Amino acid sequence: MSRTSFDYIIKKLNPHGPTEGLGGEPDLTTEDVYAALGYGNLADAPYRLGQTIYAPNRRDEMVFTCIGTRWVDALFHQHGWDAKKALGRRISDHLRTNKGSTREQSEKYAIARFKVALVRLALYELIRDNLCHTCNGTGSAEYRKCHRCKGAGRKTLPYSYRYDFLGISEEAWKTWSTRYSMILKEFQFWRMDYEEHAQKQTR
Ligand SMILES: [Zn+2]
Repeated sequence: MSRTSFDYIIKKLNPHGPTEGLGGEPDLTTEDVYAALGYGNLADAPYRLGQTIYAPNRRDEMVFTCIGTRWVDALFHQHGWDAKKALGRRISDHLRTNKGSTREQSEKYAIARFKVALVRLALYELIRDNLCHTCNGTGSAEYRKCHRCKGAGRKTLPYSYRYDFLGISEEAWKTWSTRYSMILKEFQFWRMDYEEHAQKQTR
């Protein structure tokens, strides 16, 4: 994916930046409050993620992007992850095109964007984690292994898609793929929380 389309997606989905809408009740609508109450003790992260997947709307998606990014930020601190090397080209691009920006500011900017991108990518995968249309999730078509999903039953992303989306090199992805898996796995747990909760609601 090109940088332009990445920017486009970020702007389209998150027009006011990752901190908009956080930290204040005045922003909450009546629907938000009722919906949250309806989900009882389900934490906000799983709730917003589940809504984004199963009841798609911009607001929950935006709030989830904020919560997810904060959580990813905490992971960075907890594990001492350093993205400066992986984002080297991005940082120097930003320095070059933003006269008056210090290296420190450019680093901060690139790293903040990277954290949002990690969340957006995992979110995208979970939303897109839908059934293969050829075999309808069975993994087989016409009595043999489905040629489209190779038996997985789900759509798969091309290998380069993830590091292209994150704007890092294939080399850097060797380090970041395990870290990214941690994020994706956690989001999958959150989705399961939501699903279990939703089942209880309808029982
Ligand atoms: Zn298939």
